[in-house]
Amino acid sequence: MIQSFYKRSAKSLACCCAVLSLAAASVHAYAQAPNLAYDLILQNGHVIDDKNHVDTVMDVAIKDGKIAKVAPHIASSDALKTIDVKGLYVTPGLIDIHVHVYAGTGERNSYAGDNSLPPDGFTFRVGVTTVVDAGCSGWRNFEDFKQRIIDRSKTRVLALLNIVGSGMRGDKYENNQQDMSGEETAKMALKYPDIVVGIKTAHYAGPEWTPVDQAVIAGTKANIPVMVDFGSNFPQSRPLYDLLTKKLRPGDIYTHMYSGLRNEQDPETKGPSKGMIEGRKRGIWFDTGTGGGSFKFSLAIPMIKDGFIPDSISTDLHIGSMNSATKDELNVASKMMATGLTLQQVVAEMTSHPAREIKREELGNLSVGSVADVAVLRLEDGHFGFTDMVNGRLDGTKKLTDEITIKDGKIVYDLNGMEASKWDAAPEPNDAYAYKWTSFAPRPHVKPEPSDNNRH
Ligand SMILES: [Zn+2]
Repeated sequence: MIQSFYKRSAKSLACCCAVLSLAAASVHAYAQAPNLAYDLILQNGHVIDDKNHVDTVMDVAIKDGKIAKVAPHIASSDALKTIDVKGLYVTPGLIDIHVHVYAGTGERNSYAGDNSLPPDGFTFRVGVTTVVDAGCSGWRNFEDFKQRIIDRSKTRVLALLNIVGSGMRGDKYENNQQDMSGEETAKMALKYPDIVVGIKTAHYAGPEWTPVDQAVIAGTKANIPVMVDFGSNFPQSRPLYDLLTKKLRPGDIYTHMYSGLRNEQDPETKGPSKGMIEGRKRGIWFDTGTGGGSFKFSLAIPMIKDGFIPDSISTDLHIGSMNSATKDELNVASKMMATGLTLQQVVAEMTSHPAREIKREELGNLSVGSVADVAVLRLEDGHFGFTDMVNGRLDGTKKLTDEITIKDGKIVYDLNGMEASKWDAAPEPNDAYAYKWTSFAPRPHVKPEPSDNNRH
């Protein structure tokens, strides 16, 4: 028995080695791709690139992970691969600046644990290529989050550090003023400037301004914005008006803008409250962060009618929002369209706007030379329903879905296999170089079997 077990193991090990050496051989073969101007062209799509003021049918060419050209017509013969995306919208890869993805620690009832989600399962399938974790970790556990999730995800995961050193681990931690250090938080932010794009304060239930004050200290030292979830216990001692007109700096971010939990709405006019109006004048950014209990139509509809639209669309993705009213980034965008926003507005609010808010303006655009993160979206017509935190429904006639997502120049999601060849077609001459434009390579082309009528 033992002997045969070892034999089998040795055999499967040998198989693995064979696979590995095959892979090594094909890596070697990869070097031979013909040197064309582009790896991939998306042809005939309607490009919406807010930063560059493009809103028309254009071709987009990609080379070596970067946007190489955007023009009315780019010849297919200049690229290894061309995909016709006529009738679809081509936008920069979407950026969701409020998610919770510090999953996998095993901690119950904690956003540094079970309440968080693994990013890749919830991003590419809705055109999102960059997410910002909103404060699940603080300076004490950020490096664990980094090695556990950020370094291992295909999605670009950036982070806001929680002003609480232990992060978003529940009331006991989040109400502990002793663990709110602007100094220590700034130090960790400055150690990882490529990843840490801001500071988060959330859920504090006491009357003091400590978390906000310390977050602003950290944000000022590290020269990054502060995002505020102002909590749902709203003591008179720290009014929203003071937060938005005195405490926060221009460029800081107010999330959960349509929650109604913190006096965002004027009780008389039903439009935005005075603090919201003054805050926007000062340069505070307003973000949706719809989450599990942070979005109501009774606020959003009159406020949007009044012109108070979001600066950015984010989900506040976590286990409590993924299957409820929020669902995902494109569902929130479609919901905002049902409240009256245009397609162009929602695309800007998921691309160039959030990039600006987190001071990462190299993202969220299709400028030549930019990283080739691209979403190919379908705008469906039909009858759709969108819900809010009190399970109210708004009916709509448009819905965005994602067909193709490209990250760093390679296709990472392809809903209907638009890029794939038909299974029984003869191989395309360039298929051997598919690794240049898709993450699904290598895909050895198996010749169709001769028809065998004797098979059952
Ligand atoms: Zn959140």
